[in-house]
Amino acid sequence: MENFRQNVSLSEYSTMRLGGKAAYLTEVEDEAALKNAVAAAKVLNLPIIMIGKGSNIIWRDEGYPGLVLVSHIRGFSVKDDELGSYVTIGSGEIWDEAVAKTVELGLTGIECLSLIPGTVGATPVQNVGAYGQEIAQTLVTLSAYDLQTDQMVTLSASDCDFSYRNSIFKTTAQGRYLITSITLMLSKGNPLPPFYPAVSNYLETHGISQFTPAALRQAVIAIRRAKLPDPNTIANSGSFFYNPVVDSNVLATLEERYSVVPHWDVDNGKVKLSAAWLIAEAGFANYYDQATGIATWPTQALVFINQSANQTANLLQFAQQVKTKVAQQFGVELMMEPQLLP
Ligand SMILES: Cc1cc2nc3c(=O)[nH]c(=O)nc-3n(C[C@H](O)[C@H](O)[C@H](O)COP(=O)(O)OP(=O)(O)OC[C@H]3O[C@@H](n4cnc5c(N)ncnc54)[C@H](O)[C@@H]3O)c2cc1C
Repeated sequence: MENFRQNVSLSEYSTMRLGGKAAYLTEVEDEAALKNAVAAAKVLNLPIIMIGKGSNIIWRDEGYPGLVLVSHIRGFSVKDDELGSYVTIGSGEIWDEAVAKTVELGLTGIECLSLIPGTVGATPVQNVGAYGQEIAQTLVTLSAYDLQTDQMVTLSASDCDFSYRNSIFKTTAQGRYLITSITLMLSKGNPLPPFYPAVSNYLETHGISQFTPAALRQAVIAIRRAKLPDPNTIANSGSFFYNPVVDSNVLATLEERYSVVPHWDVDNGKVKLSAAWLIAEAGFANYYDQATGIATWPTQALVFINQSANQTANLLQFAQQVKTKVAQQFGVELMMEPQLLP
């Protein structure tokens, strides 16, 4: 209890810099501190949530009526066997620093996930992915505190039930596990082509033919820096909506009206449309909405920027405006990617 801060502004704990107050908040550095904090919160009958850097959270203006635990649990260790290198990383480590360390060790598997903001512990939650890699491809196990049984548990990748930007941590087991570390299986050596088109193009135009993990990391960093705002200086939560997955007949109808409709094929005759394209075509490319203080990022309309909003209600109002226009114009429903909490 003595380490709990009270009435803490949650805008400091979201890269969108919006949200009400947490009734209680504490930063935990190790498993023992986590267990003590949970025990104290349970005595007070408080809801509990664990977070990292808040780069995928939109807090409501009402705030969080319980205890927010911020993970600062550190650790980075490597064990080799004949299959590869098992890398165990504490949940409070900064994800991009962990990626950099694995690349320095000459390991491949997560280099295309470079520069994704946030902490290691959040990566399984939405199965983070970018440029052809996702955490589901390399995660072997994770350790977590189970709030239901009050025990530390080890979950395997199949327990996590990963899919596109999704896992049990966002569905059936939402709020149940406080992740303390993850273990990845990475390989020594160089990644093999084909690479994601944007990465291939970058390598080709820069005359890079040695496909080392470091070369791919540098390529991804350069591509991301050119396209995305840095949440440390510009308030944003990355992609605001998922790319919608629709039946191929929806694509066919759109292709009758537009000469090019960006899309990717997925399983079962479905296609994934580009939410950025839909938003831009609906009139929100490089757009500033004076009424709400929210803008879209000039080089990527899917990223919403908090330019001058001071309430989450402003952001949600702008998001609704975009959703409505896209639904009217294309008959496609956009779903919000960052978690709206509580
Ligand atoms: C500019 C920008 C670009 C981005 N690009 C990408 C991208 O390319 N691909 C992608 O997938 N995502 C992307 N994101 C989203 C975001 O970076 C990731 O979702 C990231 O993993 C969130 O990390 P975090 O520590 O900030 O998590 P938070 O926002 O703090 O938390 C996110 C969720 O995870 C839960 N959580 C966090 N830590 C723990 C823990 N230790 N135990 C249990 N639950 C936990 C929280 O309760 C919450 O539900 C981007 C965001 C921004 C701002």
